[in-house]
Amino acid sequence: MANKRLLGAYAHPDDEQGVSGLMHKYASEGVDVTLVCATRGEAGEIAPGVDATPENLGQVREAELRCAAEKIGVNNVYLFDYRDSGMLGTPENNDPRAFWQANLFEVTEKLVRLIRRHKPHVITTFDANGGYGHPDHIQIHRAALMAYFVAGDPRAYPDQITREDLQPWTVSKLYWGAFPRSRFERYAELARRAGIDLGVPMQEFLKRAMPDEIITTKIDVAQYVELKLNALFCHASQMNPNSIFNRIPPEIRREGMQVETLVRAESRVVVPPELETDLFAGINDHAEI
Ligand SMILES: [Zn+2]
Repeated sequence: MANKRLLGAYAHPDDEQGVSGLMHKYASEGVDVTLVCATRGEAGEIAPGVDATPENLGQVREAELRCAAEKIGVNNVYLFDYRDSGMLGTPENNDPRAFWQANLFEVTEKLVRLIRRHKPHVITTFDANGGYGHPDHIQIHRAALMAYFVAGDPRAYPDQITREDLQPWTVSKLYWGAFPRSRFERYAELARRAGIDLGVPMQEFLKRAMPDEIITTKIDVAQYVELKLNALFCHASQMNPNSIFNRIPPEIRREGMQVETLVRAESRVVVPPELETDLFAGINDHAEI
C-alpha cells in the first residue's frame, strides 16, 4: 500500500476539476488517489453540438469522468449510483432516487467502506454550502464529514468489520475546496478591463466565494495547467461556450488555474500555523496506522 493516500468525495462528474491539479501532483508522486462520485450528473445541461440526450447523459458523463480520472492519474474511481438532484428548487430534487433524498447514514456507510478499504490520510470534499449551494454538493459534504468522524470507530457499521473483513481507519485530515474571493475579483476586474461583461453569474460567485483569510492551504499546480485543461476537456457535455468559465479569456483562466486553494476543516495531526502548501503536512510518511 502506498505510504500516502488521498480520497476525494464529490457529487458529479466534473466536480473533481477543482482538485485535478493536486490529485495529479500527488498521484505523480506515488500517492494512492481515490475519487468518489455520488451521481452520474444526469441533470446537467447538455452543451450544444454534443451527442447526448437527457436519457443517456448519465452514461456519457460517466465516460467523461473516467476519461478525466485517467488523465489525472486517479488510481480508484467509484460511483455511488444516486441520481443527480439538479439545482436547488427544481423538480429533480424530489425524485426518490435523487442524492438529495438519500439516507445520510446509507451514504456515510458507503463512504466509510471505501475509507476502510483504501485508508486515506486526507479527504477533500465541498464546504457546507456545497461551493455554490448545489444540494448534491451539500449532501456529499455532510456524508464526508460524518465519515471523517466515524470511520475509525468500530461501533460504526460493524458489519463491515465482521462480514467484509475491513478494519476501522482514522483519517488524519479533512479539507474543503475554497474559491478565494480575490480570485473572482481579479477575474471580474480583468474581464471589465477587456470589455467583457460577466454579468449576474459573476456577482453570484463573488457573493459565495470565501474570504481569503479563511484559506489555510494553497497547492501550487502551475506546472499542471495543461493537464488540468486536458482533463477538463474530457467533460465535453458540460462545455457550454456561453458558460461564465468559457467567457473568461483563456490567459486569465490559466492564471486562475495555477493554484488550488482549500480550507483545512479538521485535523488530527499537529499542523503548522502558517499557510500550508502540502495536504500531507504533519502526516508521518511511514504511518501505517
Ligand atoms: Zn457538481
